[in-house]
Amino acid sequence: MARESIYNSESGEPGGGFGYQDDRRLAPSEEDILLRPTRMDQMVGQRDVYERIRIAIEASRKRGETLGHILFDGPPGLGKTTFATCIPRELGTTLQIANGATLKAPKDILPYLTQAEKGSVIFIDEIHRMQKSVEEFIYPAMEDFRVDYTFGEGVNARTLNFALKPFTLIGATTRTGIISAPLRDRFQMREHLDFYSVEELTEIVLRNAEKLQTPISRTAAEEIAHRSRGTPRLANNRLRWVRDYADARADGKISPQVALDAMQMQGIDSLGLDSFDRKFLETICRVFAGGPVGVEAVAHTMNVAPDTLIDEVEPFLLRSELLIRTPRGRKVTEKGLEHLGFDPDRFDAPPTLF
Ligand code: ADP
Repeated sequence: MARESIYNSESGEPGGGFGYQDDRRLAPSEEDILLRPTRMDQMVGQRDVYERIRIAIEASRKRGETLGHILFDGPPGLGKTTFATCIPRELGTTLQIANGATLKAPKDILPYLTQAEKGSVIFIDEIHRMQKSVEEFIYPAMEDFRVDYTFGEGVNARTLNFALKPFTLIGATTRTGIISAPLRDRFQMREHLDFYSVEELTEIVLRNAEKLQTPISRTAAEEIAHRSRGTPRLANNRLRWVRDYADARADGKISPQVALDAMQMQGIDSLGLDSFDRKFLETICRVFAGGPVGVEAVAHTMNVAPDTLIDEVEPFLLRSELLIRTPRGRKVTEKGLEHLGFDPDRFDAPPTLF
């Protein structure tokens, strides 16, 4: 069964742990859980989305109705799961967590639907990876809180019609573009999460350093924020590495210099790119003369899954204009070439930076 976890939001404790079955995301550590906001008022940034969700929650509470279904989209690490785990706590209800990648047939989602309490939340992460048959199966569940489930095959097949208790479906996706229109339209709210500002990330780093009981200067927190690619998850990862470094090599305090030295040791550059991000840009430059080139060709050359590049590497590079998308494929911009230290006339020459 694809069930991952269920917990009662009153106790706030994830019963089965937030186990992700996607191999790109490892099971979170205790520190991950410590650093994740548990209530909406602990969330930083995304103010527009935050306000709209608050209004929807308040209205549903006042009317005693179930909150409408919500779809979150945006690059990884920006808070989709955080919203999905905070919302049921605000509602004082339970949460079940599923992952689209493991929902291969209607039977995989059925237990979540039948066990959903009135007004509770089912969160499907990576909802774009759900099989078509599951998607079609949940349409009547989302709309009318009913499902038609077929047992057996051929002449022995029997269809049962179940009534479900009203629930809220929260979906999260890194690829809103590949969600079918009928599925998208069944969400009453569709919210896009964008990259965070340096100020917002600084606030997150300062708060989390306090949770980790690590002394840090504001300037050091800003250094970390600057090099976190607009992403809270990366800000947290960088903070934890810098803290390890400070404990091992300094006196446990994070000064701006300690932060810089630690991040340099991990190959994190002035824009927050790590060696994998740079390898992607460098491959386009060296092997494909700067582009345009299809992302699949780059992925094959680098021996990685195209999805990893599309979901995890490209969004920030596009956003910071180091890379552009053209009808003929991806192309490194002049800013990208300059950042890497490539001479645009000589792609075979090694970059001068990093
Ligand atoms: P996604 O589901 O979009 O991949 P997550 O919700 O798992 O992202 O966020 C990754 C981590 O970043 C969280 O565990 C949390 O520590 C931190 N985080 C995300 N959004 C916020 C926020 N708005 N305020 C503070 N921390 C956040």
